Amino acid sequence: MNNHHLIEEGQQEAAIEAVLVAHEGHAQEVEVQQGTWSIYCLCKRCGEIHTYEVDNKARQRALGLPPWQEENKEEALFSLVRGR
Ligand SMILES: [Zn+2]
Repeated sequence: MNNHHLIEEGQQEAAIEAVLVAHEGHAQEVEVQQGTWSIYCLCKRCGEIHTYEVDNKARQRALGLPPWQEENKEEALFSLVRGR
């Protein structure tokens, strides 16, 4: 069983908590690997894998990055000005 979930920034702890609650009684068999923007949970007993990924938009907001389209537009404009 393979489950992929999108979560909002700041919900990482809640996501891990939910997995541990779902496998209550054998939580010691749940392996959790937490990255900055993703979480990997494996229950060795159930053979269940849950992966959580912080939503792209939430990630951009958190990092304060503009969407890549905007970035490209600016770059195109910049080289246009420089080309003169
Ligand atoms: Zn389990």
